[in-house]
Amino acid sequence: MVKQVRKVILVTGGTGLVGKGIQTVIAQEDKCPDEEWVFLSSKDANLLDEADTRRIFEKHQPTHVIHLAAMVGGLFHNMRANLDFFRNNMMMNDNVLKMSHEFEVKKVVSCLSTCIFPDKTTYPIDETMVHLGPPHDSNFGYSYAKRMIDVMNRGYAQQHGCQFTSVVPCNVFGPHDNFNMENGHVIPGLIHKAYLAKRDEKSFEIWGTGKPLRQFIYSLDLARLFVWVLREYTEVEPIILSVDEADEVPIGDVAQAILKAFDFQGDVIYLTDKADGQFKKTASNAKLRRYLPDFKFTPFSQAIQESVDWFKANYDSARK
Ligand code: NAP
Ligand code: GDP
Repeated sequence: MVKQVRKVILVTGGTGLVGKGIQTVIAQEDKCPDEEWVFLSSKDANLLDEADTRRIFEKHQPTHVIHLAAMVGGLFHNMRANLDFFRNNMMMNDNVLKMSHEFEVKKVVSCLSTCIFPDKTTYPIDETMVHLGPPHDSNFGYSYAKRMIDVMNRGYAQQHGCQFTSVVPCNVFGPHDNFNMENGHVIPGLIHKAYLAKRDEKSFEIWGTGKPLRQFIYSLDLARLFVWVLREYTEVEPIILSVDEADEVPIGDVAQAILKAFDFQGDVIYLTDKADGQFKKTASNAKLRRYLPDFKFTPFSQAIQESVDWFKANYDSARK
C-alpha cells in the first residue's frame, strides 16, 4: 500500500477576504484527507517581524504555503501611503519566502495583482509583462513590492531549486471584505455607502467619473482557483486569475448593480473631483483557460447579491 505524505498548508493572511474564501471552499467543497490547513491572522504572528515569522514556521512545520498576508487597500489608501505599502509588503514577503526556504517548504503560492502591471502598455495584459515599465503612479509602492515577489521566486528557483510561484488576481470582492469606506476597495466601499444611504434615506456617492474599467473576481471563485494552483500548477512563472476580458465593467455599472441588490431608489451623485486612478488594466486569462477551459465563474450580479446579503447579515461584526 502506498503511504500518503501528509501536507501541512500554512495560509498567511488567512483571516482576510481571500483567506476566508479559501477557508469556506476547503470546509464546504474540497476537503482532502491528506491535507491539514492552518489559517493565520496577524495575531498568530506579525510577519513584519522575522523572529515572529520563524516562530510560526517552527510551530506548524508547513510543507506548503499560500502567502496572502499583505498591506492591502483601495486606490485612495494607496495614494496616501505609497511608502508604507512598499516597505511593509517588502518586509512581509521577504520574511515569508526566507522562512519557506529555511524550513524546506515544497511549494509557495504568493499573490500579485493586476494593478501592478505597467501603466503605459498594450492590452490585454499578460503574465510576460509584469516588469515591462513603471506601474500607475497612484500605487507604485504596492506595485513594486509585489513585483519583487516574482524576482524572489525566480531567484529562489535559480539558486536553490525552490518551487515558489505566484498568481495575479484581478480586483477581488466577497464576504469578509474590508468595508472601510476610506481605505477599502471600490465594491466593499460602495456596498457600505449604499447600506447607509438606504438606511438613512440619504443620497449615494460614487467617487470619480464612474468611467474606469475593472475586471472583478468573486472571492469564492478565486479560492477555488487558488486550491487548484496549489495542487496542480507547477510553473514558477505567474498565472493571471481573472474573469474573461468581456466581463470588464465600468465602475458606474458596478455601482448600479450594487444599488439594484439593495433595491435603492434614492439620488445618486458622482464626485468627479475625486481620483479615477488607472483607467483600465484589462488582463488576459488565456493561460488559465489553457489549463482550465471549463472553469465557470459565478455570474457578477449573483456574486454582488451574495456579498450585499452577507454585509447586511453581518453588519455589526464586518470589518469597516
Ligand atoms: P485583506 O482582506 O486586507 O487581508 C489581509 C490579511 O493579511 C489579513 O489576514 C491580515 O491579518 C493579514 N496581515 C496584514 N498585515 C499582517 C502582518 N503584519 N502580519 C501578519 N498578517 C498580516 O486582504 P485580501 O484582499 O484578502 O488580500 C489577500 C491577497 O490578495 C494580498 O496579497 C493582496 O495583495 C492580494 N490581492 C487582493 C486583491 C483585492 O482586490 N482585495 C486583488 C488582487 C490581489 P489580520 O486579519 O489579523 O489583520
Ligand atoms: P483600484 O482598482 O486598484 O484602482 O482600486 P479600487 O478598488 O479602490 O477602485 C478604484 C476605482 O473605483 C476608481 O476609479 C475610483 O474612482 C472608483 N470608486 C468609486 N467610488 C469609490 C469608492 O467609494 N471607493 C473606492 N475605493 N473607489 C471608488
